[in-house]
Formats: sequence, C-alpha cells, structure tokens
Amino acid sequence: MNSQPDSKGTKKIEVVDGHLHLSSLEFTPKSFVDGIGRNVSERLKADNYTVPKKLLSKQLCKTFDDAEYVRLERYLSTSRIKNALILLPDFTYCLDDASTTIESMIDRHHELVLMDTRFEYFAGVDPRHGKHAFDIFLDAVENKMCKGLKIYPPCGVAPDDERFNPFYECCHSNGLPVLIHIGSTSPTLGHCFATPDLVANAAIKFPSVNFILAHGAIHHVRDCVMYARNLPNVYLDLSGMQSVIYNEQVIASYQEIFMMGINHKIIYGTDWPVFSATKTQGCFYNTLQTHGCAFSSLPFNEREMILSGNIRRLVSFR
Ligand SMILES: [Zn+2]
Repeated sequence: MNSQPDSKGTKKIEVVDGHLHLSSLEFTPKSFVDGIGRNVSERLKADNYTVPKKLLSKQLCKTFDDAEYVRLERYLSTSRIKNALILLPDFTYCLDDASTTIESMIDRHHELVLMDTRFEYFAGVDPRHGKHAFDIFLDAVENKMCKGLKIYPPCGVAPDDERFNPFYECCHSNGLPVLIHIGSTSPTLGHCFATPDLVANAAIKFPSVNFILAHGAIHHVRDCVMYARNLPNVYLDLSGMQSVIYNEQVIASYQEIFMMGINHKIIYGTDWPVFSATKTQGCFYNTLQTHGCAFSSLPFNEREMILSGNIRRLVSFR
C-alpha cells in the first residue's frame, strides 16, 4: 500500500523510522551523555587510548548538537526514511541539569511537526511532577499534536506504577500507543524498572492500548519476543540492534527474532542520533537487507510490515 515500483518495476518499500530523537542537549541532559562517555572511555582504555575526560565529553556532545536539524536532514535524505517518529523522554525530574521544562520541550516538538509533515512525536511527562504532569500530557495530546506516550523507566518510575494510569486511560480514549524504553541506558540512570515484565503488567491491565518495547530486539530479547507473541497489544522495535550487527557471525546470532512469528509486531527504528557516531548507524537498513540476515529472505509483505506497515497501523502519519 505504501510501496511504489521503481524504474525497473521492482517494488520498493517505504521506510519509517519508528524511533528517533531530536539531536540537542536541550532535550538530552549533558549528565546523560557523560554517562555514555564513561563506557566509551573504558573501551578506549582497553585499546590503550587515553582521551581526556573533557575532550571525550565535548566529542560526544557534538552528537547532540543539531539545533538547526542539519544533521537530521542529512540522515533522512541518505537513509530512505519517508516518515519518522520522534520520541521525547522526560529527564527533567530525575536529572538536575535539564536545560528547560518539559512543557517547553513539547512546544519545540510541536513546532517541528507543525512545520514538517514527515514527523510525528510521542512525549513523556514524569508523573512525579504531580497532577500537573498529567495536565501537561493531556494538553500535548489535545492541543499540540502529540501522537503517543513515551516512558523512560530508568528515570525511576515503573511502567506499571499506578501514577501512569491516567496517562494510559488518556491513550485508551484517544487511540494512542505507548512506547517504553527497555534495558540498559546511560549509567547516569538506574535500570531496575526497564524490564518487559513490568510493561506486560500494564499491557494486561490496559488491553486496548498498544505498547511498544523499545530496544526489544537487543535487550531482554527472549521476554520481549514472548510478550509480543502472547499479548495482542505488545510490539517491539529494532533500535539499538545496529550497534551489534557488524559482521556476519554476529548478525546470525540476532536474526532469530525474524523467525519467531512476530514480524507483524516488529517495528524498524534506529534511535538516531544515539549511534550516529558508529559506522553501523548509516547502513543499518542495508545491513538488514544483506549479509545473510534472515530479514532479507522474508516475504515482501513481512519486510514491508517491519519497515513501515506495523508502525503505520499504530500511528497515523500525515
Ligand atoms: Zn531512544
């Protein structure tokens, strides 16, 4: 339905990136980025490279320096991306170096989607902001074109915490999905709430709301696949996978996910710009198509579902 024949008459599949972020320290606090830097530093030390902490931090922060969306535009134009879903997690409660309020971050995302119809966005609001938190989310849904809820459990609230109930009820009333980070992240934050089991509790309690397990193809994979197979309203995305599929042997160990009968539940996503400094980001789509990856031998309709169809069923792109 979304695919067009090319000049040779071969059908090309349109690609939707179902997981990316605006690249700016305005939305991602420096303390979060510095945490990522601690892992990079350990890797470099093992290779006998010592990079001064300040220099490393400066380099990593460059990854999140795209206020004019120049790098974003370059990424989209070189990656066959037709539409993209932008995710805005709320770090403002748990990290004290957030540059502004979650309301003004939502406003900036609203401005972008108003201006550019290729994009839709999901926003999160930490429920520990109190009643005000839900009001901010409701306003985003009703007045600022927000198409879903983004939850980041490493910030310290479990996905099945009852403080999220009004948010899930709002998603139910408005037909909106919820995307929840799964697994490890910057060591600046904790990890204990970022498990698929806690998402499954919420998905069972709110069966009319669709839940997407972000990074489900790389973190807690067996449980994520199990829930995607057994709960009709649970999906998972591929984001983060590109950081590990850099040669044929490794690709082979990750391809099982495409053979589990859940290709109608898998969503293509990249987490751009998080991995944009690595070689594998730019060619993630191509890697899926080649190198003996099971994806490349799937029937056309299943590849189309993964690359765009599944996310289009959950989110109405313009
Ligand atoms: Zn992400």
